[in-house]
Amino acid sequence: MVNLVLIGPPGAGKGTQAERLVRDYGLMHISTGDLLREAIKAETPLGRAARTAVDSGALVPDEVVVGLVEERLSTKRPEQGFILDGFPRTVAQAEALERLLDNLDSPLDHVIIFDIPIDFLEERIAKRAEQSRATGTPTRTDDNVNVLKKRVEEFARATAALTSFYDHRQLLRRIDAAAGVTDVAVEISSLMRG
Ligand code: AMP
Repeated sequence: MVNLVLIGPPGAGKGTQAERLVRDYGLMHISTGDLLREAIKAETPLGRAARTAVDSGALVPDEVVVGLVEERLSTKRPEQGFILDGFPRTVAQAEALERLLDNLDSPLDHVIIFDIPIDFLEERIAKRAEQSRATGTPTRTDDNVNVLKKRVEEFARATAALTSFYDHRQLLRRIDAAAGVTDVAVEISSLMRG
Protein backbone atom coordinates (compact mmCIF):
# COMPACT_ATOMS: atom_id res chain seq x y z
CA MET A 1 0.00 0.00 0.00
CA VAL A 2 1.39 3.39 -0.99
CA ASN A 3 -0.10 6.72 0.01
CA LEU A 4 0.90 9.75 -2.02
CA VAL A 5 0.31 13.46 -2.19
CA LEU A 6 0.97 15.19 -5.53
CA ILE A 7 1.73 18.89 -5.31
CA GLY A 8 2.14 21.01 -8.42
CA PRO A 9 0.75 24.06 -10.19
CA PRO A 10 -2.13 23.70 -12.67
CA GLY A 11 -0.88 22.10 -15.88
CA ALA A 12 2.13 20.40 -14.24
CA GLY A 13 0.83 16.95 -15.23
CA LYS A 14 -0.45 15.72 -11.87
CA GLY A 15 -3.68 14.42 -13.39
CA THR A 16 -1.88 12.46 -16.12
CA GLN A 17 0.49 10.86 -13.63
CA ALA A 18 -2.37 10.12 -11.23
CA GLU A 19 -4.20 8.25 -14.02
CA ARG A 20 -1.14 6.08 -14.63
CA LEU A 21 -0.71 5.39 -10.93
CA VAL A 22 -4.35 4.32 -10.65
CA ARG A 23 -3.88 1.99 -13.60
CA ASP A 24 -0.52 0.54 -12.49
CA TYR A 25 -0.98 0.35 -8.72
CA GLY A 26 -4.76 0.39 -8.21
CA LEU A 27 -4.59 3.48 -6.03
CA MET A 28 -7.66 5.56 -5.24
CA HIS A 29 -7.36 8.98 -6.91
CA ILE A 30 -8.75 11.85 -4.90
CA SER A 31 -8.66 15.21 -6.69
CA THR A 32 -10.34 17.99 -4.72
CA GLY A 33 -10.54 20.04 -7.94
CA ASP A 34 -12.52 17.22 -9.63
CA LEU A 35 -14.75 16.74 -6.58
CA LEU A 36 -15.50 20.46 -6.48
CA ARG A 37 -16.25 20.61 -10.21
CA GLU A 38 -18.63 17.64 -9.84
CA ALA A 39 -20.40 19.35 -6.93
CA ILE A 40 -20.70 22.57 -8.96
CA LYS A 41 -22.10 20.70 -11.96
CA ALA A 42 -24.61 18.82 -9.82
CA GLU A 43 -25.56 22.13 -8.17
CA THR A 44 -25.36 20.69 -4.68
CA PRO A 45 -25.37 23.24 -1.82
CA LEU A 46 -21.61 22.71 -1.46
CA GLY A 47 -21.14 23.23 -5.20
CA ARG A 48 -23.16 26.43 -5.18
CA ALA A 49 -21.10 27.77 -2.26
CA ALA A 50 -17.78 26.86 -3.91
CA ARG A 51 -18.53 28.09 -7.44
CA THR A 52 -17.31 31.69 -7.18
CA ALA A 53 -13.99 30.70 -5.60
CA VAL A 54 -13.31 27.93 -8.14
CA ASP A 55 -14.21 30.09 -11.15
CA SER A 56 -11.88 32.85 -10.03
CA GLY A 57 -8.98 30.60 -8.99
CA ALA A 58 -9.26 31.42 -5.29
CA LEU A 59 -9.14 28.71 -2.64
CA VAL A 60 -12.36 27.34 -1.19
CA PRO A 61 -12.48 27.17 2.63
CA ASP A 62 -10.34 24.49 4.29
CA GLU A 63 -13.26 22.77 6.06
CA VAL A 64 -15.05 22.26 2.72
CA VAL A 65 -12.17 20.42 1.04
CA VAL A 66 -11.23 18.54 4.23
CA GLY A 67 -14.83 17.30 4.41
CA LEU A 68 -14.72 16.14 0.78
CA VAL A 69 -11.44 14.25 1.30
CA GLU A 70 -12.65 12.65 4.52
CA GLU A 71 -15.80 11.45 2.78
CA ARG A 72 -13.83 9.89 -0.11
CA LEU A 73 -11.22 8.25 2.13
CA SER A 74 -13.99 6.57 4.11
CA THR A 75 -15.03 4.66 0.96
CA LYS A 76 -11.52 3.24 0.37
CA ARG A 77 -10.78 -0.48 0.82
CA PRO A 78 -8.51 -0.89 3.89
CA GLU A 79 -5.53 -2.27 1.92
CA GLN A 80 -5.88 0.23 -0.94
CA GLY A 81 -3.40 3.10 -1.23
CA PHE A 82 -4.40 6.57 -2.41
CA ILE A 83 -3.22 9.61 -4.33
CA LEU A 84 -4.23 13.04 -3.16
CA ASP A 85 -4.10 15.50 -6.04
CA GLY A 86 -4.51 19.22 -5.37
CA PHE A 87 -4.88 18.63 -1.64
CA PRO A 88 -3.57 19.76 0.81
CA ARG A 89 -2.98 23.33 -0.36
CA THR A 90 -2.62 25.00 3.05
CA VAL A 91 -0.88 24.04 6.28
CA ALA A 92 -4.27 23.87 8.01
CA GLN A 93 -5.36 21.29 5.41
CA ALA A 94 -2.08 19.37 5.90
CA GLU A 95 -2.67 19.29 9.66
CA ALA A 96 -6.26 18.14 9.23
CA LEU A 97 -5.06 15.45 6.82
CA GLU A 98 -2.45 14.23 9.30
CA ARG A 99 -5.14 13.81 11.97
CA LEU A 100 -7.43 12.05 9.53
CA LEU A 101 -4.72 9.61 8.42
CA ASP A 102 -3.66 8.95 12.03
CA ASN A 103 -7.22 7.86 12.74
CA LEU A 104 -7.23 5.61 9.67
CA ASP A 105 -3.77 4.27 10.60
CA SER A 106 -2.73 5.02 7.02
CA PRO A 107 0.18 7.51 7.00
CA LEU A 108 1.64 9.24 3.94
CA ASP A 109 4.67 7.68 2.22
CA HIS A 110 5.69 10.42 -0.24
CA VAL A 111 4.78 14.01 -0.97
CA ILE A 112 5.81 14.62 -4.56
CA ILE A 113 6.46 18.16 -5.75
CA PHE A 114 6.13 18.74 -9.50
CA ASP A 115 8.79 21.32 -10.35
CA ILE A 116 8.02 23.24 -13.56
CA PRO A 117 8.72 26.72 -14.99
CA ILE A 118 5.74 29.06 -15.57
CA ASP A 119 6.18 29.44 -19.36
CA PHE A 120 5.75 25.66 -19.73
CA LEU A 121 2.49 25.95 -17.85
CA GLU A 122 1.07 28.72 -20.01
CA GLU A 123 1.65 26.58 -23.07
CA ARG A 124 0.05 23.49 -21.52
CA ILE A 125 -3.02 25.34 -20.28
CA ALA A 126 -3.57 26.93 -23.70
CA LYS A 127 -3.33 23.46 -25.27
CA ARG A 128 -5.74 21.95 -22.74
CA ALA A 129 -8.33 24.64 -23.49
CA GLU A 130 -7.89 24.08 -27.24
CA GLN A 131 -8.25 20.31 -26.88
CA SER A 132 -11.42 20.51 -24.83
CA ARG A 133 -12.92 22.84 -27.45
CA ALA A 134 -11.94 20.43 -30.25
CA THR A 135 -13.37 17.36 -28.49
CA GLY A 136 -16.55 19.15 -27.45
CA THR A 137 -15.82 18.57 -23.75
CA PRO A 138 -16.88 21.72 -21.94
CA THR A 139 -13.84 23.92 -21.35
CA ARG A 140 -12.98 24.31 -17.71
CA THR A 141 -14.12 27.82 -16.84
CA ASP A 142 -10.85 28.32 -14.95
CA ASP A 143 -8.62 27.26 -17.89
CA ASN A 144 -7.53 30.61 -19.21
CA VAL A 145 -4.31 32.54 -18.88
CA ASN A 146 -5.60 35.21 -16.46
CA VAL A 147 -7.05 32.72 -14.03
CA LEU A 148 -3.98 30.54 -14.53
CA LYS A 149 -1.77 33.37 -13.32
CA LYS A 150 -3.85 33.75 -10.20
CA ARG A 151 -3.82 30.00 -9.57
CA VAL A 152 -0.05 29.81 -10.05
CA GLU A 153 0.49 32.71 -7.62
CA GLU A 154 -1.86 31.08 -5.16
CA PHE A 155 0.05 27.85 -5.61
CA ALA A 156 3.47 29.46 -5.01
CA ARG A 157 2.23 31.07 -1.81
CA ALA A 158 0.71 27.89 -0.47
CA THR A 159 3.58 25.64 -1.50
CA ALA A 160 6.27 27.49 0.41
CA ALA A 161 4.55 26.73 3.71
CA LEU A 162 3.60 23.19 2.72
CA THR A 163 7.10 22.22 1.62
CA SER A 164 8.60 23.11 4.98
CA PHE A 165 5.75 21.24 6.73
CA TYR A 166 6.52 18.05 4.80
CA ASP A 167 10.27 18.61 4.76
CA HIS A 168 10.23 18.39 8.57
CA ARG A 169 8.50 15.05 8.26
CA GLN A 170 11.04 13.89 5.65
CA LEU A 171 8.30 13.11 3.15
CA LEU A 172 9.23 15.59 0.43
CA ARG A 173 10.40 14.37 -3.01
CA ARG A 174 11.00 16.72 -5.96
CA ILE A 175 10.58 15.66 -9.56
CA ASP A 176 11.32 17.51 -12.80
CA ALA A 177 7.81 17.90 -14.24
CA ALA A 178 9.08 19.58 -17.41
CA ALA A 179 10.37 16.17 -18.56
CA GLY A 180 8.13 14.02 -20.79
CA VAL A 181 5.17 12.05 -19.38
CA THR A 182 7.08 8.73 -19.50
CA ASP A 183 10.21 10.14 -17.85
CA VAL A 184 8.15 11.62 -15.05
CA ALA A 185 6.32 8.30 -14.60
CA VAL A 186 9.64 6.44 -14.41
CA GLU A 187 10.90 8.90 -11.81
CA ILE A 188 7.79 8.40 -9.69
CA SER A 189 7.92 4.60 -9.97
CA SER A 190 11.56 4.48 -8.88
CA LEU A 191 10.72 6.70 -5.95
CA MET A 192 7.88 4.32 -4.97
CA ARG A 193 10.17 1.30 -5.08
CA GLY A 194 12.84 3.11 -3.09
P1 AMP B 1 -7.41 22.05 -9.31
O1 AMP B 1 -8.18 21.23 -10.27
O2 AMP B 1 -6.71 21.20 -8.24
O3 AMP B 1 -6.45 23.00 -9.94
O4 AMP B 1 -8.46 22.92 -8.50
C1 AMP B 1 -9.33 23.82 -9.15
C2 AMP B 1 -9.87 24.85 -8.15
O5 AMP B 1 -10.59 24.16 -7.10
C3 AMP B 1 -8.81 25.64 -7.41
O6 AMP B 1 -8.39 26.77 -8.16
C4 AMP B 1 -9.55 26.04 -6.14
O7 AMP B 1 -10.50 27.06 -6.41
C5 AMP B 1 -10.36 24.79 -5.83
N1 AMP B 1 -9.58 23.83 -5.01
C6 AMP B 1 -9.14 22.58 -5.37
N2 AMP B 1 -8.47 21.99 -4.37
C7 AMP B 1 -8.48 22.86 -3.33
C8 AMP B 1 -7.92 22.83 -2.01
N3 AMP B 1 -7.22 21.77 -1.57
N4 AMP B 1 -8.15 23.91 -1.22
C9 AMP B 1 -8.85 24.96 -1.64
N5 AMP B 1 -9.38 25.07 -2.88
C10 AMP B 1 -9.19 24.03 -3.73
